[in-house]
Amino acid sequence: MLYAQVVLPLAQPMYSFSLDESLAVEVGDAVVVQFGSSRFYTGIVWSISDVRPDYPRLKPILRKLYSHPILTPEGQRLWEWIADYYLATLGEVMRLALPSLAKPSATSLTELDERSIEPATEQFIALSEELQSEESLSAYRAKHERRAPRRVETVERIAALAVERKAEDGFVPRRLIGVEPQHLAALRTKGLIRIEERIRENLNSAEQNFLLPTLSQAQDVALSEIRKAHAEHKVALLHGVTGSGKTEIYIHLIAEHLSAGRSVMVLVPEIVITSQLIERLERIFEGRTTTYHSRLTPLRRGRTFLRLAASTGGELIVGVRSTIFLPMRRPGLIIVDEEHDMGYKQSDMQPRYNARDCAVVMSRLCDVQVVLGSATPSLESYMNAISGKYHYIELKERWGKGVLPEIIISDTIRALKRGERKTHFNLDLRDNINRSLTSGEQVILFQNRRGYAPYLQCRTCGYSPRCPHCNVTLTQHKASSRLECHYCGFTMERSLVCPNCETQDMATMGFGTEKVEEEVSRLFPEARVLRLDGDTSTSETAFQRIVSSFEQHEGDILVGTQIVSKGFDFEGVSTVGILNADNLLSTPDFRATERAFQLMMQVAGRAGRHNDRGRVVIQTSQPKHPVIQYVASADYHAMARTELAERKAFGYPPYSHLIRFQLHNSDYELLRYAAHTLASNLRAIFGQRVMGPVSSAIEMLRGEHRAEIILKIEAGASMKRARECITRALEATRKEPRAKKVPISVDVDI
Ligand SMILES: [Zn+2]
Ligand SMILES: [Zn+2]
Repeated sequence: MLYAQVVLPLAQPMYSFSLDESLAVEVGDAVVVQFGSSRFYTGIVWSISDVRPDYPRLKPILRKLYSHPILTPEGQRLWEWIADYYLATLGEVMRLALPSLAKPSATSLTELDERSIEPATEQFIALSEELQSEESLSAYRAKHERRAPRRVETVERIAALAVERKAEDGFVPRRLIGVEPQHLAALRTKGLIRIEERIRENLNSAEQNFLLPTLSQAQDVALSEIRKAHAEHKVALLHGVTGSGKTEIYIHLIAEHLSAGRSVMVLVPEIVITSQLIERLERIFEGRTTTYHSRLTPLRRGRTFLRLAASTGGELIVGVRSTIFLPMRRPGLIIVDEEHDMGYKQSDMQPRYNARDCAVVMSRLCDVQVVLGSATPSLESYMNAISGKYHYIELKERWGKGVLPEIIISDTIRALKRGERKTHFNLDLRDNINRSLTSGEQVILFQNRRGYAPYLQCRTCGYSPRCPHCNVTLTQHKASSRLECHYCGFTMERSLVCPNCETQDMATMGFGTEKVEEEVSRLFPEARVLRLDGDTSTSETAFQRIVSSFEQHEGDILVGTQIVSKGFDFEGVSTVGILNADNLLSTPDFRATERAFQLMMQVAGRAGRHNDRGRVVIQTSQPKHPVIQYVASADYHAMARTELAERKAFGYPPYSHLIRFQLHNSDYELLRYAAHTLASNLRAIFGQRVMGPVSSAIEMLRGEHRAEIILKIEAGASMKRARECITRALEATRKEPRAKKVPISVDVDI
């Protein structure tokens, strides 16, 4: 008899089961077990041993669920790292990592069987037995060449493909034949072909000649630098301004790995904004690309997962952060595009992992090569690059004829004084919009998501009060007249007089929705205005409709939120307007500066990618603000240097790890009690490194009060020790009879 440690999708560690050898179960297999009296679960076999664990009664593993293990050895090590680093259990990792239908649970075995799914299949086609030999084939041709040339052509194509792919049984994937279903149906009726459903497989290595784009000299240099990084087993950070042609470099790298039969993963922050990239990859790597994201049906996600588990390698997998959990056979390369994007961080469910960091960890765990790409790298990655941990590669020039846009900083306070501001539009912006519209070009207007945290700002000089300890903008809380730091809880009286210019002109900002779309239609009645934001693009089709209609110039002005800053490539855009940069600068977040810079650079990157020179108008009341100046000179390095110095002075990442504990409850007093209990348990160990508890930026959510505590661990300190101490503090809090009623979530590396 054997014994197995099995991970179940429960917030617990592992469980032991007895294992009958005849089941031929191996590590990584999905198995069915009974847990409790009336529940059947899918579990993952973590280890197998012949030593009986010290339990009086062991239940047996009932059956094996799929013919292939669904967790690869590399995946197993990644799960372990995630559970350890992000303070979660393996069960929690399993809940998140496996698509729901790939891990069915039920109250009976029959029900569980009904819920089980199969790996994604596709049609395979072979010639009928009679047409298998050379002679029969030429006889067929001779007989039918004149009357049915199309049929003969298809039959010969199938025969040729079977030879080319060395398919011993003659079966080839239907998608390679490239004829319409009716034609194949007719061939089957005539008994010329056989059709079978089989697990979708990829083309064998080296048999495809990919049509690769030609590289410029700069791209070529970057490509060989990346190869050099890989030879040294280092992560490559590819820093290339928007339009510098990172994609072409990716394509060459992908081709190299696929040709060698290895699998490639391309991670993107959001699927809808990357449709242009995906289309391009699908065109070049035809029949090999698998996309994965939350908009797929649960069935499709489950079947895709199982198919990849059964694959033998040579896969190109493109998807959002959860793609990192897909089984990757023969892993070769992981590309994390837009590596700075916060979309890689899971923020609402345990474990709160960052897929970019997981990719970097994968490069340590197995021999996978990792490329991080960005026009505005995160300071964490940049720091790793300048310290020599990553191999840093910079692409400074725009590719082809593209030139960087002209940046125009438009002072809203001055415009207001001069009477040059109408609603939310300064004269500078109106003039440039006009210029574009009259020459038949397009305009993108970027409007921030409504400010989620109201802040105080001087309307005369643009000054906003900040926390002296934490260097973040203070938040105005609705209920009180005080300003509060939502990191450390520092508060100060709200004053009407500006401490900077001494004018009595302080006002609350960040409230309300700006009706930019309405205003722009009033200012430019002839222009056709489209809007792209969370409200108009609820579905992928709605989103695609807006994007493609703007692409086809069915609209003159596109008004949008964050989403317009991402990877689109609109040819006709010559003016981009950022309506209120102040909002970006005033987010109460230690990353506000970095984010503001990234966002403005990305929005700016949309202008003039093809035509002569685009213009970007940035409206702000703080034209002298360093970040605005860095954007104006497109100087990433200066921004990074200054910002790193600030981070160092205040002990923020990358000079520390920030860990956030979040608590929520409908009973405010109970919440406060639990939060203070946890804070004092943490303080007993970590002292001054603990900040809070404070109310969360969003104080109430779904009728529940929310509070948080932040813990700062210096970079270089042992995170392992820190995690052990945190676990102790959490356990102590959870033992406390009142405090234990309040759920606590932990977010490592916020
Ligand atoms: Zn002032
Ligand atoms: Zn503070």
